[in-house]
Amino acid sequence: MIHQGIREWQEEREESLSPHAVRSRLSRGRLKAEEPCPVRTAFQRDRDRIIHCKAFRRLKHKTQVFIAPLGDHYVTRLTHTLEVSQIARTIARALNLNEDLTEAIALGHDLGHTPFGHIGEEVLDELYPQGFRHNEQSLRAVDHLEREGAGLNLTWEVRDGILNHAKTRADIFGEGWGTVGTLEGQVCKIADIVAYVNHDIGDAIRAGLIAEADLPGSTPALLGRSHSERINTMVCDIIDHSWAATGRSQGQEPAIGMSPRVLEATRQLREFLFHRVYNLRSDQEEAAEARRVVRHLYEHFSHREDGLPEEYARQGEEVERRVVDYISGMTDGYAQRRYEEVRVFR
Ligand code: MG
Repeated sequence: MIHQGIREWQEEREESLSPHAVRSRLSRGRLKAEEPCPVRTAFQRDRDRIIHCKAFRRLKHKTQVFIAPLGDHYVTRLTHTLEVSQIARTIARALNLNEDLTEAIALGHDLGHTPFGHIGEEVLDELYPQGFRHNEQSLRAVDHLEREGAGLNLTWEVRDGILNHAKTRADIFGEGWGTVGTLEGQVCKIADIVAYVNHDIGDAIRAGLIAEADLPGSTPALLGRSHSERINTMVCDIIDHSWAATGRSQGQEPAIGMSPRVLEATRQLREFLFHRVYNLRSDQEEAAEARRVVRHLYEHFSHREDGLPEEYARQGEEVERRVVDYISGMTDGYAQRRYEEVRVFR
């Protein structure tokens, strides 16, 4: 059969990648050993498992920043994820890193995001005694929740990239939430920033919160005056600044980053978004309503675990853990509907 041996052929092609790229053949492996696919490399298989999972489909109906906006052109978690994936693949390919690994991490990085964006995350973090972080939940989704609790059994490199993609509020490249172990994971982390800073500007303009002319200081002159110019400037800068990742420049430690000037401009844009968009959004009535919904669902199901769907009623986990798994997996609309159904039980 012709298709037998195609994976090995692809693995051989990976030998021409940068010496700093991860080769699928040398993966640290899966949680449970499995027969390899005859056609796809381990990372291509992981990417496909993520695309076909239920949590990935639900990203379509999860808020990024704007809660349940009426316009069809606002970013959702799904379109954000696809933008991150595309930006990350461009950078990985330019630096001769493993594009398949990069794509798998990018597509999986936000699977654990709650409904209502970071507001949902904050509320669950307050309520659940062990704390809640979307990146840890993304890993939980792929390890424990998908496939009726069997998990997707992904490779170590994809799981590491998913767990350690998150930034801190204080620092755009902050590693307070973990250090990623591969250059491909670093590419996804930076691509996440490039994607959200730019699409959040676009959405804020769309919502009439800001105008293009409000962008701070020297950022338009340095980064460009349109969405595509800004992304292009950042991506090209990352490629130039991270060139040691290709293994073609001697003596430099390979790492993914931005030049100081572009990094500073990106930081300014992010701060501007916090002041003019993110903080404002979280003061509004729709944010208060989102907090109410998540809080009520948490209290309700913590006391009535018989109301949990069967796939969250599994033995062996404490009830709060299962309630957090259930709520964090909800889309915005589903959370609203469940809230309407259960609030009569107060
Ligand atoms: Mg993201």
